[in-house]
Order: sequence, then structure tokens, then C-alpha cells
Amino acid sequence: MFKSVLIANRGEIACRIMRTAKRLGLRTIAVYSQADAQALHVKLADEAHLIGPAPAAQSYLVIDNIIAAAKAAKAECIHPGYGFLSENTAFAKACADNGIVFVGPPPSAIEAMGLKDRAKALMEKAGVPVVPGYHGNNQDPALLKRKAYEIGYPVLIKAVAGGGGKGMRRVDRHADFDDALSGAMREAQNSFGDARVLIEKYVTAPRHIEMQVFADTQGNAIHLNERDCSLQRRHQKVIEEAPAPGMSAALRAEMGAAAVAAAKAAGYVGAGTIEFIADGAGGLKSGGFWFMEMNTRLQVEHPVTEAVTGLDLVEWQFRIANGETLPLTQAEVPLHGHAVEARLYAEDPEKSFLPSTGRLIALEFPKAEGLRVDTGVESGDEVTPFYDPMIAKLIAKAETREAALDRLATALDATVVIGPRSNAGFLAALVRAPDFCIGAFDTGFIDAHLSELGAGPQALDHEAVAFGAQALVARERDRLAERGDGYDSPWDADDGFQLSGTRRLIVPLIAEGHHLNAEVAFVGGEAKVSVEGAAPALDATAIATADAVYVLRRGRQTRLAPRDLSLAEGAEEGGSGTIRAPMHGKVLAVLVEQGASVARGQRLAIIEAMKMEHTLTAPLDGTVAEIAASAGSQIAEGARVMVIVPAEGA
Ligand code: ADP
Repeated sequence: MFKSVLIANRGEIACRIMRTAKRLGLRTIAVYSQADAQALHVKLADEAHLIGPAPAAQSYLVIDNIIAAAKAAKAECIHPGYGFLSENTAFAKACADNGIVFVGPPPSAIEAMGLKDRAKALMEKAGVPVVPGYHGNNQDPALLKRKAYEIGYPVLIKAVAGGGGKGMRRVDRHADFDDALSGAMREAQNSFGDARVLIEKYVTAPRHIEMQVFADTQGNAIHLNERDCSLQRRHQKVIEEAPAPGMSAALRAEMGAAAVAAAKAAGYVGAGTIEFIADGAGGLKSGGFWFMEMNTRLQVEHPVTEAVTGLDLVEWQFRIANGETLPLTQAEVPLHGHAVEARLYAEDPEKSFLPSTGRLIALEFPKAEGLRVDTGVESGDEVTPFYDPMIAKLIAKAETREAALDRLATALDATVVIGPRSNAGFLAALVRAPDFCIGAFDTGFIDAHLSELGAGPQALDHEAVAFGAQALVARERDRLAERGDGYDSPWDADDGFQLSGTRRLIVPLIAEGHHLNAEVAFVGGEAKVSVEGAAPALDATAIATADAVYVLRRGRQTRLAPRDLSLAEGAEEGGSGTIRAPMHGKVLAVLVEQGASVARGQRLAIIEAMKMEHTLTAPLDGTVAEIAASAGSQIAEGARVMVIVPAEGA
């Protein structure tokens, strides 16, 4: 076995590869960009080398820098992970040229499978079924249009250099073809510097079923069963599972044989994936699947295969790169139980899944039997805009599909991501979706169910806000009690403001951009909080930072903060110019004098409440007609602080 490995990657996959490498006794060498100096993969490695600034094009994609780091560290081999340089022929060649083993296929196999048109032609020759269509050299728009007509609509236009779903367009009508073609070509040119496309029959009710293959340098090739990756958004995988619902042993053998034939035709070595599109209408069936493409690397979703086979695919990669024979024959490959993986992303399902960057104020995963969590970040880390915003992969394994889905849903519920938004709630809803649970789904499932899955704008969760307000109040009471300096706290039920019976306090809040008030009722020494009539949620978690409270409920984050008496409030008062205390508190300072002229937005006074300073500002231009409060005094919520007489025309 090798003595050392450089991992030319970052994040969860770099950490995952290191785990196996360490177990096998390899010295682990990380590379990192300036943005990743404190990253988990750097901390886990035995040594780490800086390879450039944050943008990947200046660091993780710079072949020379990585080779230089490998030579400096005397790395025997390089594992590329997935993405970045993993399917880059020039990188595989550079490794070989420098006497470093590339843990992956030979450059010729990467090249053979790199372009979709060439790969399809090669597969046809090897007798592997391919999606009917046109993948010739002639790119004349009129010819492509005629081909689309002959294939029959709907068709799919694909960039031959494509990846990540880019440069892909489904076309349903002949009349729409020209626009779709120019759009696909433009996108392909921009993304890959290669505008060429191919045309395929669009398989209706498509299921994405892929076979994990492995080949060694002695010419042996086997498959390690299938994965179903049909739950996709924008042609990107969201949930993956093994085995595929509805898969029979006979069909598995048929697809497996096609996958092995494909790997052999490519002269493949190492771990690879043959992606098939299957016709899911009426269930999976013999002959109802076609080659789409081969991924010549380890896949993001390899853990589901590891879960159902009990194998370590990264260990196999190292062994094969080291020249060993495949550890198992086809007949010996295990298949036990069911596994499902969910990709947890820092993105906002309520805002079209836009990446959500920022500091991970809290990140916690449950620990449970049958649950595996692969991550590359921890609490306090930053999700930056430079790289893929995946936070973690959660993989649940159980005896049955039902139990595995249940285990995954429970794990997603217990996952805490605070700071950036995450898709945890969306994923939990997805793995609980009734049709998905009974196996009635295809690649269009997510798009067809977006709103039921909670993707799209949602109303403010008042119960979550009330829960957060309750946390604010509790924190404030604790703090003041600790201080114990005789400060007359408005947060105690028995303070000087108490008149008789229940005392009420209005706490103005801003929650997700909405202005609202929490009402705190002090009853028998207890503070009862409500927001617009809603009581605090019973199933939420809250984390308070210096300036806000983050509430997490059912995978959804609600951020709230105490609100200063703002400009908008002045306007709500009908421009009367009466400045009132937004809450019980202490006047720390009065910043203007009677008779002074003030401009809209100018600071007038500071009130301290909840240990935070609230600045009162002028709602309009005018003159200070009256000052009703003095520095150092307590003030009741709603009491007059001062009156501004509006200026002419204000
Ligand atoms: P990329 O390399 O850009 O990821 P793929 O060829 O792997 O593109 O296809 C991505 C996804 O697009 C597939 O998983 C599948 O959901 C869908 N797709 C691809 N080809 C077809 C087809 N012929 N019919 C229907 N859907 C398809």
C-alpha cells in the first residue's frame, strides 16, 4: 500500500478520503486556498499546503500548484475526489509525468468518456443501449432541427461537453426548437467553451439509475449494484438511494452487465459510474434503460453503495491504484438492506434555492444507529461564495426502505443549521412525501411538488417568533437578575411598573423583515409571551447572538431582533411627531434640546432595554417642541419621550 496521499480537494470529500487513508496508514496531505486556511480538511490532515487565493480557478484548479505541493510533500499518490480536477485528462497526465500515481482511471478512459457524443458512439459500438438520438459532428441548426423532428418530440438538447445540467434544454414542440437550440449552445459555449450539442429522445417519466462499477489493471470489471438518483432539481441530484425501488435481481444483472461492458469498452480502471436513464412509466423493465454518460470518478453519492455493500469504496480505489486485483468477484458482491442519502445545502428553498452564505452560528447533527454524516464544516465555519455550498450528506441505512426513509427524516429534523439558510426542512418533507414513499416518482417529482415541499415564499411563522421572543425575555431576566445591582428591571413581574394584577409589556420586534410586537404578560412571576395571538412553538430551538435570535423550527429558520422605534413607526403615527418609548427601559441619553430643529433620521434619544441600546430617531423634519424624559430615568413602554412639530411640508 502507498505510504502517503495528497488529496486535491476540499470539504466533505477531502475529509472522507482522509478517514480511509488514515485507517490504511497513509500520511495525509491536504491542499487549501486562502479561504480554507482554518477548514476541517486542513485540520484533519497530517500536513497541509497553501495553493493559492480563494477562487478555485486560482487554487484548486491550478494543476502546477497542486503538483508542486505533492512534490514538496513527497506524496506517492494523489486522490482528486470529485469535481475540480477529478475528470481532467491533463491533470491525470501531469501526475504520471511527475511520477505520482493518480487515484483514478487512465487519462485515455477519462478522455473517451469526457464528451457525451464520443462516449455515446463508443457505447453503441460496444453494444450498450444508448438513448436514441443524433450525436454527429454536423452542427448546422437546420440539420439539428430536422433530426429533432425525426427523433420525435419531446427531445432533449445536450451540450456534448456538458456537466452539471448546463447547456441542456427540453423541447416539446417543433416551433420552440430554434430558441432552445440557440439557448443551449450559448450556455454550452459560456460554460464549457464548446457550443456543440447532441439531440436525444426525451424519456418521459424518466428514472435516473446508475451502476457503480470497478475495474482493475488486470482487466477485471464488476458492478457494485445500482443507485436511484431520480429525485433531482435542475438535473442535479438531491436524494439518492440503493437499491432502486422496483428493481428486480434480473434487471439488476442486465443493467450491471451493460455497465461492465461500458467500462471495459472504455479501458476503464478504478471506480466509475455508468448513468442510465430508465423509462419509469409502468415500472422498471428489461430493455427499458439507456446509457447517458459515464462519470470517471468517485461520486458524491457513493456512501449509499457503501451502506448496502458494507464496502469502503475509497479503500478499493487505493488498492486498485496500487495495482491490486479486485477484492471480490461479481457473485461475491453483497447487497443488504436499504440506504438513502440527502444532500444538505446552505441554500434557501423559499428563495428559489439561492445559495445562502455566512457564518455557521450553529451546526449540529444527531448521532443515531444506521446514520452516517459526512461533512467538511463545523460550527463557526464560514460558508463562502467561492465553492459548492453543500454542508453535509446524511446517509440513513436500515433493513427496509420504509425504515431508512424514516430514519433519514428523523435525522433531518434533528439537524441544526443556524446562520445560513438550509434545505433541511425541504429534504425532510421530500423523504416524507407520500408518492415518493410508495416509490411512485420520476425525475420530475420535485418540480411537480415544489409548493407542498415548502419551496417558495412562506408566511412568517408567528409561533417561531413567539418562541424567539420568549428566549429574548428569559435571557434578559437572567442577565438582570445576575447583575443584581438594584437596577429597576422592567422584566421582573414585581418591578415598579406593576399596577395591579397582570402587567403587560410590548416588545417591538423585527422578524424576517416584518415589524411586529411581542406581548409579554407577567402572571404570578411568570412571563407569558405571545405574538399576534400565537403562543411560543413547542418544537423549536433558539440560539441568541449579540444582535439577534435565530429560531429553528421544522428545518426552517426565523431570525428576529428587538426593533428600535424606527422611521416607519413615526410614519405609522400619522406623522404626528410624538416619539414614544418602544418598551419599558431606562433612558440613557437625550441627544437633542428643546427648540432644536431636527432632520428626519436624526438620533433623538437612547433607551436601554433588554441590555440593548435602542436609538430613537426623528420620523420627520421638524422642531423639538417638548421633551418629556430625562437621562437616567425609567420609562414605561408607550410613554411620550418627546414631541416634534413637523416642519413646513414635512
Ligand atoms: P449532466 O452531465 O449535465 O449532469 P446528464 O446527461 O448526466 O447531464 O443528465 C442529467 C439529468 O438530466 C439526468 O439525471 C436526467 O434526469 C436528465 N436527462 C438526461 N437525459 C435525459 C433524457 N434523454 N430524457 C429525460 N431526461 C434526461
